Amino acid sequence: MTKVVIIGGGIAGLCMGIYLHRNGVDVSVNERVMGQHGGGHAFLMHHEGMSILNELGTEQAVLPGKMVDTFVFMRPDGELVHKLSLKEWQCFKRTDLTAYLSRLMDAGRVYDQRNFSHFIYKDSRIVAAAFLNGEMEYGDLFIGADGANSVVRKQVFGEVKFEPGGVKEIVGVVEHPGMAAAYAGRFTKFQESTIGLAFGLIPTTATELVWYMQYDPVMLGDIEIQSPKALKSFCLALLKGFPAPVMEILRCNDFSKSYVWNTRDFDPLPSFHHENVVLIGDAAHLALPFTSAGTTNAMVDAKVLAKCLSEENDHAAAFKRYYEKRAPQVAAHVLLGRQLRDSFLGKGEPGFAMPLITDQSE
Ligand SMILES: Cc1cc2nc3c(=O)[nH]c(=O)nc-3n(C[C@H](O)[C@H](O)[C@H](O)COP(=O)(O)OP(=O)(O)OC[C@H]3O[C@@H](n4cnc5c(N)ncnc54)[C@H](O)[C@@H]3O)c2cc1C
Repeated sequence: MTKVVIIGGGIAGLCMGIYLHRNGVDVSVNERVMGQHGGGHAFLMHHEGMSILNELGTEQAVLPGKMVDTFVFMRPDGELVHKLSLKEWQCFKRTDLTAYLSRLMDAGRVYDQRNFSHFIYKDSRIVAAAFLNGEMEYGDLFIGADGANSVVRKQVFGEVKFEPGGVKEIVGVVEHPGMAAAYAGRFTKFQESTIGLAFGLIPTTATELVWYMQYDPVMLGDIEIQSPKALKSFCLALLKGFPAPVMEILRCNDFSKSYVWNTRDFDPLPSFHHENVVLIGDAAHLALPFTSAGTTNAMVDAKVLAKCLSEENDHAAAFKRYYEKRAPQVAAHVLLGRQLRDSFLGKGEPGFAMPLITDQSE
């Protein structure tokens, strides 16, 4: 029986593990620190990702997060630019989502504190993954699900050229039952019309909201030291003219838990596999966060790869079919992320650009 070793237990790695285990495959998920924050504090998830979560779920497991059915796009002075219906998007805290997926995965198959170090070769074929704690996991196929800075990708495929996103993002999660109720079901975004500055707000539970500020560091300046005090002053200074709810969120935010994210992407890879190693999720492809597509894509990768592995006679054919199915879709999202970034910075086509992906089947 084929043994599959997954490196990385984030969204992509856990989903992959669940699918393979349910298909009767001998699989292990190897994570450096279970439950640690990875990319983003919270996500907006497209309904394609939601349908995968529902498919993987059980009657006992209660899906976390809050439904988002309306996108409200405003100027900081209160002018309503657009109000659009969204088809079954949901907002999750990252930790809630990974905890949910962990509960669906057979605990005996998940190994914590396994920070991938390198592969072990026999007769020029990879036979095991070695971890920094000295442990090793032997297998036949290896799946790199270790995120944007993937060590698996670096060792097997070489360095990728990260393209700076040109926009930075500060994210926070705030406990505020009143505002979570007032903004329920809505993704609200306040965006300046002439400079690259925006503030977004989405409830993640009945009592909490995730917020983010996107800014153009070239035009608006940046902060040198990321202390909580400096972060707060910086946000308050940039968002000075924004409406009262924005100020209320900033007042309640714990800035020791907020970070500045340097957005970036890389050009689509010519292949997602090399011999018996294959990449999924952010390890395989990275788009700018404007699309809100990363988690959905990570989960769709897992679903498609699991299907290809179960239907093809050999892994080479499965990996090839997986790439053919997924590469055009994720390449389109890399492009969309760049277009949305250009529009945000006032460099793109004039007019409103919807900052979310549409159905992948469309
Ligand atoms: C600011 C920001 C906002 C975002 N907003 C959204 C959004 O609204 N919607 C959306 O869909 N996406 C969003 N994203 C993108 C989303 O976070 C990612 O696309 C998604 O997390 C990818 O899942 P993944 O499992 O491939 O990678 P990750 O979530 O990064 O998981 C990788 C896992 O591998 C582990 N790992 C790493 N190295 C090793 C190693 N050497 N050994 C063992 N384990 C290792 C990590 O600890 C982690 O658990 C956002 C990202 C950022 C930065």
